[in-house]
Amino acid sequence: MWFREDLRLGDNPALAAAAATGLPLLCVYIDEDARDGLRALGGAARWRLDRARAALEADLARFHGRLHCFRGAAEAVLPDLARAANVTHLLFNRRHGGAERAVDARVAERLAAAGARVESFNGALLVEPEQIATRSGGAFKVFTPFWRAARARLDAAEPVPAPEKLTFAALPVGTPALAPARPGWAENFPDPDAGEAGALTRLRHFTDEKLDGYETMRDRIDCDGTSNLSAHLRFGEISPRQIVAALRGRPAEKFLSELGWREFSAHLLHARPDLPWRNFNARFDRFPYRSDPEALLAWTRGRTGYPIVDAAMRHLWRTGLMPNRARMIVASFLTKHLLIDWREGESWFWDTLIDADSANNAASWQWVAGSGADAAPYFRIFNPVLQGEKFDPDGAFVRTHCPELARLPKRYIHRPWSAPAEVLAGAGVVLGRDWPAPIVDHDFARRRALEAFGAIAASSGE
Ligand code: FAD
Repeated sequence: MWFREDLRLGDNPALAAAAATGLPLLCVYIDEDARDGLRALGGAARWRLDRARAALEADLARFHGRLHCFRGAAEAVLPDLARAANVTHLLFNRRHGGAERAVDARVAERLAAAGARVESFNGALLVEPEQIATRSGGAFKVFTPFWRAARARLDAAEPVPAPEKLTFAALPVGTPALAPARPGWAENFPDPDAGEAGALTRLRHFTDEKLDGYETMRDRIDCDGTSNLSAHLRFGEISPRQIVAALRGRPAEKFLSELGWREFSAHLLHARPDLPWRNFNARFDRFPYRSDPEALLAWTRGRTGYPIVDAAMRHLWRTGLMPNRARMIVASFLTKHLLIDWREGESWFWDTLIDADSANNAASWQWVAGSGADAAPYFRIFNPVLQGEKFDPDGAFVRTHCPELARLPKRYIHRPWSAPAEVLAGAGVVLGRDWPAPIVDHDFARRRALEAFGAIAASSGE
């Protein structure tokens, strides 16, 4: 059983099939080399993966089993292992990125040539990309018809139970221990409660306490109104089928549609494996992005002078996560206010998010930037002050992450530069010393972004 992004025992169809063979099992994880298009995990995700894997090891130990970890190229590691341990079957759950699919195909070919039976399963998605298509037979590019087609199939998405019994083979080769290469700052992240048990507890907490208010609270940056399941889903500690099963009989359309965006992103990545580095809409290849290393640095460090942007970027650095609304605000700010290429933001998120996922991250960045499938209209340029006032109305989120502003009254918390001198003095804030002046003026930035967009729209005849 080759574990990859499915680090759980429940609703794991490959593991269930492996158990059903009755044969002794070898559970394997490979820390795959970043080559042939495989992207190395970022620092935060690697830290999170290490915890996910430790939790799976503990779960397997309850069956007196082990997770054998290797490092290298899967197409080299697995055939060697198959020979050394007399492997007759290889089972795994499918992945949907282009490079990952190519690796899996090469592995399957080599193992089959060595006489082993190779079987793969759907453990990651409610509906796999091959299962649905537009009327003309292509991949969907628009969310609403995609989700209509996928939603109609949810009743068929039944989880498979965890195996009751597993027997393990002894492995005659050494297995190196794996530690994250760059734990760095992530060591101070809050406990992610990693693993299958943590994921199921979080799901229960969500359905008991938050589901009913989800639609109204999900955008509030100052309230914890969402499921916090993204990292659990990313490493497969829980499956979307298990989530859907737990929601049956409850009104949950909005929440289901967010899972739908995860499905849609995977669908897009499957159709366009270059989604993380190429504009989905080629018109944006001519977009006049600017190179501005200083502004990029200010964005990453939370020093743009816009409190909601800076609080969100500091929150990301401290926790490895960011609420969805805040992700949209900071992404809009980078691509539209600063006119910096979405790929810069995508790669910062890739390195700093514990839920960094090639499909969700790339599709969401392109959605905000305007270059994506079914993207936000380009002229929708968030005003970071109004966004802050709407989604962090008392400024609680800003006060937590930007303590230098903590004593400012609510009225000015999202716009310190407009506070009268005596208010600033009363709050102990000297602009330019305790808090930077806005890196760019909002009205100027908005005009500049619209002009930039106008130029590519005009040159493509729109
Ligand atoms: P909930 O609101 O409880 O949603 C439940 C689940 O649905 C999430 O766990 C996630 O798996 C899925 N989901 C929710 N919103 C989206 C969405 N817009 N797109 C795709 N799936 C979604 N999500 C990631 O998992 N990994 C990423 O690398 C990532 N990068 C993003 C980058 C940007 C610029 C933006 C705007 C969004 C990004 N998202 C990403 C989507 C979203 O912000 C997170 O999934 C969400 O904040 C996770 O919190 P939650 O689990 O409490 O979400």
